[in-house]
Amino acid sequence: MQQKLSVRHLLGIKDITPDDIALIFDTAANFKEVINRPIKKVPSLRDITIANIFFENSTRTRLSFELAEKRLSADVVNFSSSNSSVKKGETLLDTVNNILAMKVDMVVMRHASVGAPHFLTQHIKANVINAGDGTHEHPTQALLDGFSMLQKLGSLQGKKVAIIGDILHSRVALSNIFLLKKMGAEVMVCGPKTLLPRHIEALGVKVELEVKKALQWCDVANVLRIQLERQQIKYFPSLREYSLYYGINKKMLSELDKEIVIMHPGPINRGVELSSDVADSEHSIILEQVENGVAVRMAVLYLLAQS
Ligand code: ASP
Repeated sequence: MQQKLSVRHLLGIKDITPDDIALIFDTAANFKEVINRPIKKVPSLRDITIANIFFENSTRTRLSFELAEKRLSADVVNFSSSNSSVKKGETLLDTVNNILAMKVDMVVMRHASVGAPHFLTQHIKANVINAGDGTHEHPTQALLDGFSMLQKLGSLQGKKVAIIGDILHSRVALSNIFLLKKMGAEVMVCGPKTLLPRHIEALGVKVELEVKKALQWCDVANVLRIQLERQQIKYFPSLREYSLYYGINKKMLSELDKEIVIMHPGPINRGVELSSDVADSEHSIILEQVENGVAVRMAVLYLLAQS
């Protein structure tokens, strides 16, 4: 078994190998055991300083990284653009160079522009982790989704995963597609035609417009949020109509003659993509995803620190 990652930065799932993913999953399983102990902290990243720099809103991802860093005993500094000098006109590189002048070893960054974390790697020495760049990739979300499926189903090989909703604006969708294909799962995307990228089949995924057929086909449905903040034009008439055609409710699940796992990266728009009785049902592993997020991010930070 490989002991080190093949990369120094985690910019996207596209850049890492199936062996890297397997190593992250194995390491995450160990850390999951650690964070369920009464003493949840290990000294692995003592003397490492990590800056979490978020130029876009986040609840889960930022908290999850911060908790993962603290469980590994790293020193942590947090920065969010809403209360920083970016508002005063400072460039991204100046902001980051100032943070690095304070001797930071790793940077976790979320940014609205595609490629912003990649740009950073060309200018700074620290390890960079992409916590979401625009509509491009969100690699740790895909890793925690994959790890959650692995824990629930025992393997990803041959499993059928439907990614349902706003595929066009979702970085979670792209990272999940790369990861699932690399790990041998079958992937389908489902949503209104206006929210499916053209030529998406070129990534080796099936395309389905009817949500009932997608649910009938899959073992796991990963349901995505409608990313209204990224939609410059109207892609469907109203949220009510979207929910009528694409919203998943308990009745639809009880009509299936099989078990199905429901996932969602959060934040959920209850009553739009998922009804509350599905989000809170025995089918849903949404809160397990959140728990696994901490273990997976501990694994990524720990492994990148050795690279
Ligand atoms: N939290 C995820 C992201 O940052 C999904 C979402 O916002 O809908 O992309």
